[in-house]
Amino acid sequence: MTKSKLSALPNITTPNTQVVFNPEICVGCNRCVEVCQVDVYIPNPVKGKPPIILHPDECWYCGCCVIDCPCPGAINFNWPLQQRGSWKDKVTGKVYRDNVAFP
Ligand code: SF4
Ligand code: SF4
Repeated sequence: MTKSKLSALPNITTPNTQVVFNPEICVGCNRCVEVCQVDVYIPNPVKGKPPIILHPDECWYCGCCVIDCPCPGAINFNWPLQQRGSWKDKVTGKVYRDNVAFP
C-alpha cells in the first residue's frame, strides 16, 4: 500500500485571526478542532502543539472551541474591533473596549 502525502495551506485571503493560542498552556488535545463546525482548524502535525488555523475567515465566533477547551487560557478570542464590547463611563467620560480605556 502506498502512502499518500497531504498538503494544507492556510487561507491567506484575510488577515483575520479569530483566536490566539497560548502554546505554553495548550496541550494539543485537538478538542477545539473537533468541535468547530466549519473546520477552521486542522491538527498540528507536531504532537502536543496548538492546532493550525487553516480558514480564519470561516469563523463565525460561536465560541465552541474556546468553551470546550479543557485548559483555561490555552485559546482566547481575538475579537474584531467592531465586535468588541464598548461603553462609556458616565463619570469620567472614558470609552472602554474589553476593559481597556481608549484615550
Ligand atoms: S486550545 Fe485547548 S482544546 Fe485546543 S488543542 Fe489546545 S488544549 Fe486542546
Ligand atoms: S468560534 Fe466557532 S466557528 Fe470560530 S473557530 Fe471556534 S468553533 Fe470554529
